[in-house]
Formats: sequence, C-alpha cells, structure tokens
Amino acid sequence: MKKLTLLLGLAVLVFGSWTPAFAYNLWGYQWSSTSISYECDMHGDYTTQCENGKNDWNRSTPVNLTYGGSNAGITTTAGNFGNVSWSGLCNLSQVSGRTILKADIQINTHYTDSYSSLQRKGVITHELGHAIGLAHEDSLGRGGAVMYSNDGRTVYSPTRDDIAGVNAIY
Ligand SMILES: [Zn+2]
Repeated sequence: MKKLTLLLGLAVLVFGSWTPAFAYNLWGYQWSSTSISYECDMHGDYTTQCENGKNDWNRSTPVNLTYGGSNAGITTTAGNFGNVSWSGLCNLSQVSGRTILKADIQINTHYTDSYSSLQRKGVITHELGHAIGLAHEDSLGRGGAVMYSNDGRTVYSPTRDDIAGVNAIY
C-alpha cells in the first residue's frame, strides 16, 4: 500500500512537470455517441464557414459530425436577429438528463455580416463547441481557446485546450 502511494506520487511529479495546464470548462451535457448529425442550413460564406468549423472538430477530436439533413441533432441557421448583444447562440433544445438530444445554433448576421470569413468561422466553431458540450473558457485569454466568450478571440479553430475538453467528455 505504501509502495503504491509512492509510485502514484512519483507519477504525479513526473507528469506534473510537463503536462500543460488545461483550463477548459464543460457544460455538463453530452451526446450519447461521438457520431453526431448536423446540418448547416445557411447561405453563402456562412455555409462554407459552418462546414470548415465542422471539419475542424472532426479532424481534431473523437467527435464525428455527420450530415443529417433537417432532422439533424445539431441544426445551424444564420439570420438577422437584430441588435441583441449576441452574435451566436447555442440552445440545447432537447435533453434527457445530461444527454443532449438536440442543439440549435443561431448566427446573428446583424453583427457577423461585417466580420471576416475567419471571424465568422470562429463564431460558428465556438457555437459548435457548445453543441458538443464545451462551456466558455476565458482564463487563457483571447488566443487560448476558441471557446473564449468574446468575438475578439484570435483563434478560429479548436486549440489544444478545446481539444482536451472534448477528449475529457468523450
Ligand atoms: Zn459561447
């Protein structure tokens, strides 16, 4: 018993020296499977950036977003919702306990029409992060996580911290 404690202590010491300090926050809800259907019901550049964001999460995490049409688990729409102080929104519209059954993303073109393609991608990738189960992460600053809550973020793809968060969920 004493030996085990010592070994564990050593492992913590050894790993502690190089394991990065992750700061991600989890929403507390998740899908029952890593295979999640989505639909990008958008127009023009928004469709492109939605597909780019989806590909980012698929490439870097165990999550596999697959095209699901209008019955998809994650639906995304872009429209002018006016001067309402949010550029993107993710609503878990159907949950069972802690399991997400449906997530609806809205992108507010009132703000995002004047954004660059990269900034739009940042907003959509951020909202997809919520839909997967991530919460905001602001402690690492604007370049630390795509889950940074403000559109002043300087990263537009999942960072190591975002990826570690998804890995912690699935
Ligand atoms: Zn957010």
